[in-house]
Amino acid sequence: MAYYELKLSTSLETDEFLIDMLTQKGCLGFREEENLLTAYFGGNFDMQGLIQEIGIINELREKAAMNALFTFSYTLLPDQDWNETWKKKFIPLDVGKRFTILPPWERQTPGRINLIIDPGMAFGTGHHETTRSCLVLMEKYDRQVTKDHFLDLGTGSGLLAIAASKMGYSRIIAVDTDPLAASAARMNAALNQAPNVEVREGSITAVSNSFDCITANIISGVLIQLASDIAVHLKRSGVGILSGILADQADEVASAIQKAGLRVKERFQDGKWISLVASRNSSARR
Ligand code: SAH
Repeated sequence: MAYYELKLSTSLETDEFLIDMLTQKGCLGFREEENLLTAYFGGNFDMQGLIQEIGIINELREKAAMNALFTFSYTLLPDQDWNETWKKKFIPLDVGKRFTILPPWERQTPGRINLIIDPGMAFGTGHHETTRSCLVLMEKYDRQVTKDHFLDLGTGSGLLAIAASKMGYSRIIAVDTDPLAASAARMNAALNQAPNVEVREGSITAVSNSFDCITANIISGVLIQLASDIAVHLKRSGVGILSGILADQADEVASAIQKAGLRVKERFQDGKWISLVASRNSSARR
């Protein structure tokens, strides 16, 4: 598969608006260096459409005399170059106390929970803070949760669902609105011999039961929309891990969670990203 590499030279150290927008458009991964943001998209992505949109954002910023202007360029990386780049970049990565994430061509680490992910297919290689935060929190709340039903909402590569399977959950459902992510998740589940991970294309409306643990690493806007559905599908003793939240949007997401009848148990920060752990209010009834 070929990939688009979009490079944006920004005058801001972190252009959160752009990051948020590109994530929403389906960016598969970012690399952030000083004033240079590199974003990757699948080879079948409508790059022309995106270029027009970001051109308009720049013009509007210029008209408003904002100092957040940027320049950009993109290239299509053919299959082979990409594979070589991947192989150099994706080395085994230890996350939390027990997990090691590794690409299929690396050797597994004995004594750890090895999560094999074929990178380059969908978001979720563990190289993003939000994915790592979810794993750390899954580990942290491990003993408090019954290991029965697990939902990974917005599964991407399937990484969190696979981790749940290896942690001992008996039934895992992973959903994603993006059909490419759903097929990547299926493939990665097979690669990890995790037959109890069931992948469905769609969102939370594709599930009907309730869950002991729900992970949702999406973006603030979507989490706010999904908050009440997440609450409906969380068991009384269940834990929801909501991630993908930029620090300045955390209050908004927290208040949507509370409006949905849940309690925010913990705010976990990694860099500029926040993850919220939600549970039922002890007084709430189902
Ligand atoms: N869970 C993975 C991937 C996160 S990326 C990880 O933690 O690394 C977010 C994923 O959510 C993307 O694959 C995107 O397609 C999916 N997504 C976006 N909006 C969604 C929605 N409303 N319902 C379900 N999935 C959604």
